[in-house]
Amino acid sequence: MTDLTPPDATLAAYRDQVREAMKAFDAEDFAAWEADRHIPRSALTLLAGRGLFRARWADGAYLGIGRMTTLIEELFRYDSGLAIAAMGQSEIFIGALARHGSSGAHAALLEDALAGRAVGCFAATEPQGGAQLAGIRTRATAEDDGWHLRGTKRYISNIGRATHAVLLARTDKAENAADLSLFIVPLNTAGVTVDGFFDAAGVQSCDVGQLSVDAHLPADALLGSPGLGLLYASHLLQFERLAICALLLAGGESALELAAGHARGRHTDGGRVIDKQVIRHHLATARADLWNLQSRFAEILAFARREQALPPHQISALKLSAGKRVLEIIDLSMQIFGARGNTTAYPLEKLWRDCRIARVGGGTDEVLSDMVASFVDRPDRRVEQYLAEARDLDVPLPSVARGHRATALVR
Ligand SMILES: Cc1cc2nc3c(=O)[nH]c(=O)nc-3n(C[C@H](O)[C@H](O)[C@H](O)COP(=O)(O)OP(=O)(O)OC[C@H]3O[C@@H](n4cnc5c(N)ncnc54)[C@H](O)[C@@H]3O)c2cc1C
Repeated sequence: MTDLTPPDATLAAYRDQVREAMKAFDAEDFAAWEADRHIPRSALTLLAGRGLFRARWADGAYLGIGRMTTLIEELFRYDSGLAIAAMGQSEIFIGALARHGSSGAHAALLEDALAGRAVGCFAATEPQGGAQLAGIRTRATAEDDGWHLRGTKRYISNIGRATHAVLLARTDKAENAADLSLFIVPLNTAGVTVDGFFDAAGVQSCDVGQLSVDAHLPADALLGSPGLGLLYASHLLQFERLAICALLLAGGESALELAAGHARGRHTDGGRVIDKQVIRHHLATARADLWNLQSRFAEILAFARREQALPPHQISALKLSAGKRVLEIIDLSMQIFGARGNTTAYPLEKLWRDCRIARVGGGTDEVLSDMVASFVDRPDRRVEQYLAEARDLDVPLPSVARGHRATALVR
């Protein structure tokens, strides 16, 4: 099994720590979670008790990023729902409290989250749409002694077993992105209701549910400054997107390893399936593309550690490319398995379902494309000038031999 996150001694030890912790569960547990459609809170408490969240955050958001992707990648190999729930716990709940917490209550809640006594989820999407967070309608009205929150949130992962939601709401009447703020909502607050859950094709062990809020909350339910919620949420989502890349690449790697193994072992009309050139080349192209995506992933992790920052356009581009290509690789792997790929005896149909939703959750392909397009659409004086020179030369000449070429485009 190829480990995605670049090897170093501390990461190898952390990976072993995750694998050791996961020995507490077996195939029957994973099957039970999937049948129940919930990750038990105790599973996250166990991971926390083994120090996995604390170790991820010990050196801060950026230096601990390799531990984060190692955690998600490893958990995904055992149970995709546990990986999603842990991602919400670590990158949204703990991340929001660590970065924006300011009160004693926030510090105490952060400690509870690291210890697994509190479990968090992220409530951003609403019934009228989730792709454009700037359109959020949930209202937070300032009151003398706190806030009144009113609204409905949908498709929230792990809401069924969480104790708190990190919730994005509008703190002013104007329909302006700058009016969004981030709140911590204890789910046992009067007026906070989990309405129910959606039956879903992918990641069946982690619930996705709906939350209704018509509740009074104390002043320190607000995280950070009012009006900066979209900025905060966008930053947290960068970490979530990298985590999703980790699980996508883990899914692609598993599918490809299995497909290659099956093609090597299966014989048809006297020859191995892998000896058919069409299969061989498909597998080779998939391997090449997966290596390239893994390299890009490693570069982004190295950048985060070196610069103490995340490159948002590059992360969006990686999730966009990985989402599409990994799905194609899983599809190819199912094809190579023939009818067996469709049976639950092999993990391919589940990998396909679990990875498919990565193209929606954490930023849809369309939203990510828009984000990358905003990078492509930046003016570049050097290129503009070069094109103007080339345009001047782009005229008919009396003789081809006298043709000019614009000087090379150099940086
Ligand atoms: C498994 C799973 C887990 C999830 N977990 C969470 C969670 O924990 N918390 C949470 O808040 N949300 C969660 N979501 C919701 C997810 O973030 C949203 O589904 C996603 O943002 C899209 O929102 P929507 O489903 O409302 O689609 P819509 O916003 O209705 O969009 C429908 C389609 O139109 C496209 N579209 C919309 N606007 C534009 C535009 N301006 N330009 C181009 N295309 C556009 C979208 O990309 C999409 O393809 C989860 C979703 C899934 C599938």
